Parts: sequence; C-alpha cells; structure tokens
Amino acid sequence: MKCDSIDNDDDSDNDDDQRSTFKTYRSKNMRIFSGIQPTGSLHIGNYFGAIKQWLDYQYEDECVFCIVDLHAITTSYDTENLQKLITEKAIIYLAAGLDPEKVIIFVQSRVKEHTELSWLLNTITPLGELYRMTQFKEKSEKNKKNENAGLLNYPVLMAADILLYDTELVPVGEDQKQHVELARTIARKFNSTFGETFVLPKSKLASQGARIMSLTDPKKKMSKSDGEANYVSLFDSPEKIRKKINSAVTDAQKTIKYDKKNKPGISNLLTIYSLFSGKPIKDIEKEMKGKSYKALKNVVAETTVDSLEPFRKKREEFLSRDVFVEEILKQGEKRARILAETKMHEVRKKMGLQN
Ligand code: ATP
Ligand code: MG
Repeated sequence: MKCDSIDNDDDSDNDDDQRSTFKTYRSKNMRIFSGIQPTGSLHIGNYFGAIKQWLDYQYEDECVFCIVDLHAITTSYDTENLQKLITEKAIIYLAAGLDPEKVIIFVQSRVKEHTELSWLLNTITPLGELYRMTQFKEKSEKNKKNENAGLLNYPVLMAADILLYDTELVPVGEDQKQHVELARTIARKFNSTFGETFVLPKSKLASQGARIMSLTDPKKKMSKSDGEANYVSLFDSPEKIRKKINSAVTDAQKTIKYDKKNKPGISNLLTIYSLFSGKPIKDIEKEMKGKSYKALKNVVAETTVDSLEPFRKKREEFLSRDVFVEEILKQGEKRARILAETKMHEVRKKMGLQN
C-alpha cells in the first residue's frame, strides 16, 4: 500500500494492538472511508486532495466512499437540485475510476445509522472542541444568514460517518485533517467511557495536492461553495478552463518560483501543473525560467484541458446511464447498511440503550 503521509500525531494508544484485534473479524486489509459533499461542481482540489488518493486503495483495501448529502444541507441549497447533484457526484466517482464491484459507493442519508450515531456522539463531544474547528469558524462567517447548529455539529456527523465503519484511514484534503483528529478524540472518549468499541481513525493526506488554493484568492483553499471563478471543475469546458486559469490571481513580481508564503498564486499554478504533468516543481521552474506569467498560465491551462478531457468523455457516457448509476448506489447502500447496522447494535448495547 502507498502511504504518502499518514497523520501520525501519536499518543498513548497502541495502534498495532488495536489493528490486530479488528483484523480478527475482517478479511481484507485496511478499512478506508471518505466522502464528498454534493454542494457544487467537483473541482481539481477535490480530485487531488481526495479522489485520486482513493484510487490507490480500491484493490487492496476495504473501501467505503460516501456522498455526504447530510453535510451539504448545512449551507443554503436548492432542494430541487440536490438529487441531481448526488447523481453527478456518483458519476464523478465512477468517471475517476472507482470500481463499484470493489468499493462501496453510497448516499449518506439513505443509511439512517449515520444520524443515529451522530446524536449519540453529540452527547460525549465537548462543545469547546466544536467551537475551535476552523471550518466552523469560516463557514459560520460566510453563512451569516444561516448560521445553524448543523455547521457546529458537522464534525460530529463526520465522526459518525467514519466510526460507523471501523475506519482506520481517511484519505482527505488538508482542511479535513482537524475533523479526523476530532473523530479520533471522540472515539477514544467513547471507548474509555463505554468500553472498547471504535477503531481510532487517522487521516491520510496526499504528499502533493492536499491543499489546492483558490484561483481568485490564493491564500484560501479552492472550494466548491466559494463561487465559480475560484475553482476549475473537473467538467469545465476547455474555454472555461483557459479563462479561469488566465484570470488567476498572481502577484506583482515577475519570477516564476515556488514560494508558498510570498507567491501563493504562482506556487498554486506550479503545483497544479506539476500534478497534471507529473513533472517535479524544480524541473518546471527551470523550464519556465525567464518566461512570463502569461506563458506559465498558458501551459497550465493547456495541460489542465488535456488532462481533464477523459473526465469529460466518461461523464458523457455515464450521463446516459443514470439507471445503472442508481443501481450502483442501491447496491452500495445495501452493503453499507449491513456494516452500519452491526456497529450500531454494538453501540446501543454499550450505551445501555438496548439489551
Ligand atoms: P465546500 O466548499 O462545499 O465545503 P469543498 O470544495 O471543501 O466544498 P468537500 O466536499 O467539503 O469540498 O470536500 C471533499 C474532499 O475534498 C475532502 O477530502 C476535502 O478535504 C477535499 N478538498 C476540498 N477542497 C480541497 C482543496 N482545495 N485541495 C485539496 N483537497 C480539498
Ligand atoms: Mg469543504
């Protein structure tokens, strides 16, 4: 298994012991869980930070990949469009190369155990932990008109998603690392209060691409819910990609050099180019030496257009096969439910809610 950077913040837990305990009732290697919200168009940050990593695990490990619609409703959304966005996300999972024969792909709200476990975990989650979460601070600031309790409790639902499946590794972008750490804290607290129940999960970040920055404000991460111009969608037309990359915010200097702190816009373009081309950043700096920012933008745009071409083609194929896509989601739901029901039975018993 390829492991770029497992979050090894370690503590007193003996993970090896724990892993071997769980291996006794699991036939495959690691349990992997991750999810994406159906909030807007998936962008290249979601791809490099999350989906691309998932592909590394699908044949060797036991993977559960979710479309987290219950998370998506914590910010304003269009009820009429939600199901369409969910189908679109499933199509993207398939277009990116996830094999539904191997991995479980399902929609979060269809497996009710996620909300049940989330409530139970709320009762042991300290409020202080939730208030200090960066995403909560950012999203409540951005959603002043809809500053709801769901935004605060988001990481508890995410902990439920993860813990329900005895997840060991959560491949995510850097912004979600803090939430996975909280899931680990909650699991530890549950285990010490009610007895050994949950595996302690760890996040797994890509070595490069764990934080792709916004094209309009390169000091912030690229986000689906921050307006179209800030991201390149996996399905943007070549014209749109060129327009967005050519308008990307850079700086007032002239040198093409990777320097995240002082040149975040140029560094972001270099990262995107490096990820799509497979060339190391050092080589790109040499290739672009003495060239203008415009020249860099052109080469990044053309490489992005070419690299995303297969996504656009695959998406067209799957769009005409919506019955097939729905069948995959139904099968995924059945498989996920079996795991979730078993775990919830154990949790209820441990908490004295059931004999
Ligand atoms: P939203 O703005 O609605 O929160 P998002 O773009 O942050 O959308 P999510 O669905 O919240 O996307 O996250 C899906 C996955 O993509 C997570 O693993 C997250 O860490 C990762 N991710 C999100 N943005 C980036 C980014 N800019 N770079 C790398 N990974 C990212
Ligand atoms: Mg997000």
